[in-house]
Amino acid sequence: MRAVVKIGGSLLKSAQHFVEAAKFLSTFESPVVVVSAVKGVTDMLIELYKTRNESLYEAIRDIHVEIAKKLGVSGVDPLLRELKAALDLPEGPDVLDYFMSFGERLSATIMNGLLKRMGMDSKLFIAPIITDDNFGNANPLDDRSLASEIESHEGIAVVTGFIGRTRDGRFTTVGRGGSDYTATFLAKLLGYRRVVLVTDAPGVMTADPQEVPEAKILPMMSVEEAMEAARLGAKRMHPRTFEPVTGGMYVEVRNYWSRGTIVGNFYAPPPYKVVLKCGEGSCVVGLEAEEIVKLGGEYVGRFSALVPMPPKWAHDLFVKPYFEKLLWTS
Ligand code: ASP
Ligand code: MG
Repeated sequence: MRAVVKIGGSLLKSAQHFVEAAKFLSTFESPVVVVSAVKGVTDMLIELYKTRNESLYEAIRDIHVEIAKKLGVSGVDPLLRELKAALDLPEGPDVLDYFMSFGERLSATIMNGLLKRMGMDSKLFIAPIITDDNFGNANPLDDRSLASEIESHEGIAVVTGFIGRTRDGRFTTVGRGGSDYTATFLAKLLGYRRVVLVTDAPGVMTADPQEVPEAKILPMMSVEEAMEAARLGAKRMHPRTFEPVTGGMYVEVRNYWSRGTIVGNFYAPPPYKVVLKCGEGSCVVGLEAEEIVKLGGEYVGRFSALVPMPPKWAHDLFVKPYFEKLLWTS
Protein backbone atom coordinates (compact mmCIF):
# COMPACT_ATOMS: atom_id res chain seq x y z
CA MET A 1 0.00 0.00 0.00
CA ARG A 2 1.43 3.30 -1.13
CA ALA A 3 1.84 5.95 1.60
CA VAL A 4 1.97 9.71 1.30
CA VAL A 5 4.97 10.86 3.35
CA LYS A 6 5.42 14.54 4.09
CA ILE A 7 8.78 15.90 5.15
CA GLY A 8 8.48 19.15 7.12
CA GLY A 9 10.65 22.18 6.47
CA SER A 10 12.06 22.04 9.99
CA LEU A 11 13.81 18.81 8.89
CA LEU A 12 15.27 20.43 5.77
CA LYS A 13 18.00 22.83 6.78
CA SER A 14 21.14 21.53 5.10
CA ALA A 15 22.45 18.97 2.62
CA GLN A 16 22.89 16.53 5.49
CA HIS A 17 19.22 16.97 6.42
CA PHE A 18 18.16 16.09 2.87
CA VAL A 19 20.27 12.93 3.04
CA GLU A 20 18.66 11.96 6.32
CA ALA A 21 15.19 12.49 4.81
CA ALA A 22 16.10 10.50 1.70
CA LYS A 23 17.32 7.56 3.79
CA PHE A 24 14.05 7.57 5.70
CA LEU A 25 12.07 7.70 2.46
CA SER A 26 13.99 4.74 1.07
CA THR A 27 12.37 2.55 3.74
CA PHE A 28 8.93 3.05 2.12
CA GLU A 29 7.64 1.30 -0.97
CA SER A 30 7.23 3.84 -3.80
CA PRO A 31 5.96 6.60 -1.53
CA VAL A 32 4.36 9.82 -2.65
CA VAL A 33 6.66 12.31 -0.97
CA VAL A 34 5.34 15.77 -0.13
CA VAL A 35 8.12 18.27 0.52
CA SER A 36 8.03 21.61 2.37
CA ALA A 37 10.34 24.51 1.67
CA VAL A 38 13.75 24.58 3.34
CA LYS A 39 13.39 25.95 6.87
CA GLY A 40 12.86 29.70 6.93
CA VAL A 41 12.68 30.10 3.16
CA THR A 42 8.94 30.85 2.91
CA ASP A 43 9.39 33.75 5.35
CA MET A 44 12.35 34.98 3.30
CA LEU A 45 10.32 34.81 0.09
CA ILE A 46 7.50 36.87 1.63
CA GLU A 47 10.09 39.43 2.71
CA LEU A 48 11.60 39.36 -0.77
CA TYR A 49 8.20 39.98 -2.31
CA LYS A 50 7.76 43.02 -0.06
CA THR A 51 11.25 44.52 -0.36
CA ARG A 52 12.62 43.18 -3.68
CA ASN A 53 15.95 43.36 -1.93
CA GLU A 54 18.83 41.98 -4.03
CA SER A 55 20.89 40.72 -1.12
CA LEU A 56 17.91 38.83 0.24
CA TYR A 57 17.53 37.22 -3.17
CA GLU A 58 21.21 36.27 -3.01
CA ALA A 59 20.78 34.75 0.45
CA ILE A 60 17.91 32.57 -0.82
CA ARG A 61 19.93 31.64 -3.89
CA ASP A 62 23.00 30.73 -1.83
CA ILE A 63 21.07 28.47 0.56
CA HIS A 64 19.82 26.34 -2.33
CA VAL A 65 22.94 26.47 -4.47
CA GLU A 66 25.00 25.26 -1.54
CA ILE A 67 22.70 22.35 -0.71
CA ALA A 68 22.37 21.33 -4.37
CA LYS A 69 26.12 21.54 -4.91
CA LYS A 70 26.92 19.43 -1.87
CA LEU A 71 24.43 16.80 -3.00
CA GLY A 72 25.51 16.96 -6.63
CA VAL A 73 22.02 17.66 -7.93
CA SER A 74 21.04 20.01 -10.74
CA GLY A 75 17.86 21.88 -11.58
CA VAL A 76 17.91 24.76 -9.11
CA ASP A 77 19.59 27.30 -11.41
CA PRO A 78 16.67 27.79 -13.81
CA LEU A 79 14.32 28.25 -10.84
CA LEU A 80 16.65 30.81 -9.29
CA ARG A 81 16.85 32.73 -12.57
CA GLU A 82 13.07 32.70 -12.70
CA LEU A 83 12.92 34.07 -9.15
CA LYS A 84 15.38 36.82 -10.07
CA ALA A 85 13.16 37.84 -12.98
CA ALA A 86 10.14 37.86 -10.64
CA LEU A 87 11.70 40.78 -8.74
CA ASP A 88 10.37 43.07 -11.49
CA LEU A 89 6.76 41.91 -11.21
CA PRO A 90 4.08 44.25 -9.83
CA GLU A 91 2.41 43.66 -6.45
CA GLY A 92 -0.65 41.48 -6.10
CA PRO A 93 -1.85 38.45 -4.16
CA ASP A 94 -1.17 36.20 -7.14
CA VAL A 95 2.39 37.52 -7.33
CA LEU A 96 2.93 36.87 -3.62
CA ASP A 97 1.85 33.24 -4.11
CA TYR A 98 4.14 33.04 -7.12
CA PHE A 99 7.05 34.21 -4.95
CA MET A 100 6.19 31.70 -2.21
CA SER A 101 5.93 28.86 -4.74
CA PHE A 102 9.70 28.92 -5.21
CA GLY A 103 10.36 27.52 -1.72
CA GLU A 104 8.65 24.19 -2.36
CA ARG A 105 9.65 24.08 -6.04
CA LEU A 106 13.31 24.41 -5.06
CA SER A 107 13.25 21.93 -2.17
CA ALA A 108 11.25 19.34 -4.12
CA THR A 109 13.65 19.69 -7.05
CA ILE A 110 16.57 19.03 -4.72
CA MET A 111 14.86 16.06 -3.04
CA ASN A 112 13.96 14.50 -6.37
CA GLY A 113 17.51 14.96 -7.67
CA LEU A 114 18.97 13.39 -4.54
CA LEU A 115 16.67 10.35 -4.64
CA LYS A 116 17.64 9.80 -8.26
CA ARG A 117 21.32 10.10 -7.43
CA MET A 118 20.76 7.44 -4.80
CA GLY A 119 19.53 5.16 -7.57
CA MET A 120 15.81 5.45 -6.94
CA ASP A 121 13.21 5.80 -9.66
CA SER A 122 11.97 9.21 -8.58
CA LYS A 123 9.86 11.69 -10.51
CA LEU A 124 9.04 15.31 -9.72
CA PHE A 125 5.48 16.67 -9.71
CA ILE A 126 5.17 20.43 -9.34
CA ALA A 127 1.84 21.58 -7.86
CA PRO A 128 -0.34 18.71 -9.12
CA ILE A 129 -3.31 19.97 -7.09
CA ILE A 130 -5.78 22.27 -8.81
CA THR A 131 -7.24 24.99 -6.60
CA ASP A 132 -9.56 27.97 -6.90
CA ASP A 133 -7.99 31.42 -7.27
CA ASN A 134 -8.31 32.48 -3.64
CA PHE A 135 -4.62 33.39 -3.50
CA GLY A 136 -2.96 32.99 -0.09
CA ASN A 137 -5.65 30.63 1.14
CA ALA A 138 -6.68 28.64 -1.91
CA ASN A 139 -9.16 25.80 -1.78
CA PRO A 140 -8.04 22.57 -3.46
CA LEU A 141 -10.57 21.20 -5.92
CA ASP A 142 -11.69 17.66 -6.42
CA ASP A 143 -9.93 17.48 -9.76
CA ARG A 144 -7.58 14.62 -10.55
CA SER A 145 -6.47 15.81 -13.96
CA LEU A 146 -2.90 16.58 -12.85
CA ALA A 147 -2.65 14.24 -9.86
CA SER A 148 -3.59 11.11 -11.77
CA GLU A 149 -0.14 11.16 -13.37
CA ILE A 150 1.29 10.40 -9.94
CA GLU A 151 -0.62 7.14 -9.93
CA SER A 152 0.72 6.02 -13.25
CA HIS A 153 4.32 6.60 -12.13
CA GLU A 154 5.47 3.42 -10.42
CA GLY A 155 8.47 4.73 -8.51
CA ILE A 156 8.75 7.49 -5.92
CA ALA A 157 6.74 10.62 -6.66
CA VAL A 158 8.12 13.85 -5.21
CA VAL A 159 5.44 16.52 -4.86
CA THR A 160 5.63 20.15 -3.78
CA GLY A 161 3.67 20.80 -0.58
CA PHE A 162 1.76 24.00 0.14
CA ILE A 163 1.29 25.09 -3.47
CA GLY A 164 -1.32 24.37 -6.07
CA ARG A 165 -2.36 25.97 -9.30
CA THR A 166 -5.46 27.46 -10.79
CA ARG A 167 -7.11 25.94 -13.86
CA ASP A 168 -5.36 28.62 -15.94
CA GLY A 169 -1.98 27.59 -14.51
CA ARG A 170 -1.14 30.28 -11.92
CA PHE A 171 0.50 29.17 -8.68
CA THR A 172 -1.54 29.40 -5.48
CA THR A 173 -0.84 28.55 -1.84
CA VAL A 174 -3.19 26.89 0.64
CA GLY A 175 -2.15 28.93 3.72
CA ARG A 176 0.90 28.90 5.96
CA GLY A 177 1.93 25.51 7.26
CA GLY A 178 -0.15 24.00 4.48
CA SER A 179 2.13 21.16 3.37
CA ASP A 180 0.45 18.82 5.84
CA TYR A 181 -2.88 19.68 4.28
CA THR A 182 -1.45 19.09 0.79
CA ALA A 183 -0.38 15.62 1.93
CA THR A 184 -3.75 14.60 3.39
CA PHE A 185 -5.65 16.16 0.50
CA LEU A 186 -3.53 14.35 -2.06
CA ALA A 187 -3.98 11.02 -0.26
CA LYS A 188 -7.72 11.49 -0.33
CA LEU A 189 -7.70 12.56 -3.97
CA LEU A 190 -5.69 9.49 -5.00
CA GLY A 191 -7.36 7.05 -2.64
CA TYR A 192 -4.31 6.23 -0.50
CA ARG A 193 -5.06 5.37 3.11
CA ARG A 194 -1.82 6.08 4.93
CA VAL A 195 -0.34 9.54 5.46
CA VAL A 196 2.89 10.06 7.41
CA LEU A 197 3.60 13.61 8.55
CA VAL A 198 7.25 13.76 9.56
CA THR A 199 8.17 16.73 11.71
CA ASP A 200 10.69 17.63 14.42
CA ALA A 201 8.28 16.62 17.21
CA PRO A 202 7.89 12.94 18.19
CA GLY A 203 4.10 13.16 17.91
CA VAL A 204 1.09 15.14 19.08
CA MET A 205 1.78 16.08 22.69
CA THR A 206 -0.83 16.42 25.45
CA ALA A 207 0.42 20.00 25.96
CA ASP A 208 3.23 22.29 24.87
CA PRO A 209 6.23 20.79 26.72
CA GLN A 210 7.66 24.31 27.15
CA GLU A 211 4.67 25.11 29.33
CA VAL A 212 3.93 21.67 30.76
CA PRO A 213 7.17 19.70 31.09
CA GLU A 214 5.45 16.38 31.90
CA ALA A 215 3.42 16.47 28.65
CA LYS A 216 3.34 13.11 26.89
CA ILE A 217 3.00 11.87 23.32
CA LEU A 218 -0.52 10.74 22.53
CA PRO A 219 -0.57 7.24 21.01
CA MET A 220 -3.90 7.80 19.24
CA MET A 221 -6.45 10.46 18.64
CA SER A 222 -9.66 10.76 16.66
CA VAL A 223 -9.88 12.91 13.54
CA GLU A 224 -12.45 15.13 15.28
CA GLU A 225 -10.13 15.78 18.21
CA ALA A 226 -7.18 16.45 15.91
CA MET A 227 -9.28 18.87 13.84
CA GLU A 228 -10.25 20.82 16.93
CA ALA A 229 -6.69 20.88 18.26
CA ALA A 230 -5.46 22.17 14.87
CA ARG A 231 -8.22 24.77 14.70
CA LEU A 232 -7.40 25.96 18.24
CA GLY A 233 -3.78 26.48 17.20
CA ALA A 234 -1.91 23.29 18.15
CA LYS A 235 1.71 23.59 17.11
CA ARG A 236 1.14 25.80 14.05
CA MET A 237 -0.86 23.04 12.40
CA HIS A 238 -2.80 24.14 9.34
CA PRO A 239 -6.44 24.15 10.49
CA ARG A 240 -7.57 21.99 7.56
CA THR A 241 -4.88 19.29 7.95
CA PHE A 242 -7.25 16.54 9.08
CA GLU A 243 -10.30 17.55 7.07
CA PRO A 244 -9.62 15.08 4.22
CA VAL A 245 -9.08 12.15 6.59
CA THR A 246 -12.25 10.10 6.10
CA GLY A 247 -13.18 6.43 6.06
CA GLY A 248 -10.25 4.10 6.57
CA MET A 249 -7.60 6.80 6.10
CA TYR A 250 -5.22 7.52 8.94
CA VAL A 251 -2.35 9.91 9.66
CA GLU A 252 0.84 9.28 11.58
CA VAL A 253 2.36 12.39 13.17
CA ARG A 254 5.95 11.53 14.04
CA ASN A 255 9.64 12.22 13.72
CA TYR A 256 12.13 9.83 12.06
CA TRP A 257 12.48 7.64 15.13
CA SER A 258 9.22 7.75 17.04
CA ARG A 259 6.12 5.68 16.54
CA GLY A 260 4.22 8.95 16.87
CA THR A 261 0.53 9.65 17.12
CA ILE A 262 -2.01 7.89 14.93
CA VAL A 263 -4.97 10.01 13.93
CA GLY A 264 -7.93 8.19 12.46
CA ASN A 265 -11.63 7.58 12.56
CA PHE A 266 -11.79 5.79 15.89
CA TYR A 267 -12.47 6.81 19.47
CA ALA A 268 -9.45 5.98 21.56
CA PRO A 269 -8.94 6.87 25.22
CA PRO A 270 -8.13 8.98 27.21
CA PRO A 271 -11.22 11.22 27.34
CA TYR A 272 -9.08 14.39 27.29
CA LYS A 273 -6.21 14.55 24.83
CA VAL A 274 -4.68 17.98 24.50
CA VAL A 275 -4.48 21.16 26.56
CA LEU A 276 -3.77 24.40 24.70
CA LYS A 277 -3.32 27.95 25.84
CA CYS A 278 -6.48 29.86 24.89
CA GLY A 279 -6.27 33.56 25.71
CA GLU A 280 -6.10 33.87 29.50
CA GLY A 281 -7.27 30.32 30.03
CA SER A 282 -6.89 26.85 28.52
CA CYS A 283 -8.75 24.83 25.96
CA VAL A 284 -9.09 21.15 26.75
CA VAL A 285 -9.65 18.98 23.68
CA GLY A 286 -11.22 15.57 24.13
CA LEU A 287 -14.24 13.44 23.44
CA GLU A 288 -15.72 14.17 26.86
CA ALA A 289 -15.62 17.95 26.65
CA GLU A 290 -19.27 17.81 27.67
CA GLU A 291 -18.27 16.77 31.20
CA ILE A 292 -16.10 19.86 31.50
CA VAL A 293 -18.98 22.03 30.36
CA LYS A 294 -21.13 20.46 33.10
CA LEU A 295 -18.47 21.59 35.59
CA GLY A 296 -18.70 25.18 34.33
CA GLY A 297 -16.39 25.17 31.31
CA GLU A 298 -17.46 26.73 28.03
CA TYR A 299 -17.70 24.92 24.70
CA VAL A 300 -15.23 26.13 22.08
CA GLY A 301 -16.04 23.24 19.76
CA ARG A 302 -17.96 20.00 19.96
CA PHE A 303 -14.98 18.26 21.53
CA SER A 304 -13.25 21.15 23.29
CA ALA A 305 -13.95 23.34 26.28
CA LEU A 306 -12.44 26.49 27.71
CA VAL A 307 -11.48 26.55 31.39
CA PRO A 308 -10.24 29.62 33.31
CA MET A 309 -6.85 28.31 34.42
CA PRO A 310 -3.31 28.03 33.03
CA PRO A 311 -2.44 25.00 30.85
CA LYS A 312 -0.36 23.41 33.59
CA TRP A 313 -3.36 23.23 35.94
CA ALA A 314 -5.75 22.09 33.25
CA HIS A 315 -3.27 19.38 32.27
CA ASP A 316 -2.92 18.24 35.91
CA LEU A 317 -6.67 18.15 36.32
CA PHE A 318 -7.92 16.60 33.08
CA VAL A 319 -5.09 14.79 31.30
CA LYS A 320 -2.62 13.61 33.92
CA PRO A 321 -5.02 11.38 35.89
CA TYR A 322 -5.09 9.06 32.86
CA PHE A 323 -1.32 8.78 32.41
CA GLU A 324 -1.02 5.56 34.39
CA LYS A 325 -3.94 3.85 32.72
CA LEU A 326 -2.54 4.07 29.22
CA LEU A 327 0.24 2.60 27.24
CA TRP A 328 2.07 5.83 26.62
CA THR A 329 4.80 5.97 24.06
CA SER A 330 6.98 8.17 26.25
N1 ASP B 1 6.56 26.32 3.46
C1 ASP B 1 5.21 26.64 3.88
C2 ASP B 1 5.24 27.50 5.12
O1 ASP B 1 6.30 27.78 5.64
C3 ASP B 1 4.36 25.44 4.05
C4 ASP B 1 4.79 24.44 5.12
O2 ASP B 1 5.94 24.46 5.56
O3 ASP B 1 3.98 23.61 5.52
O4 ASP B 1 4.21 27.93 5.55
MG1 MG C 1 4.96 23.02 8.37
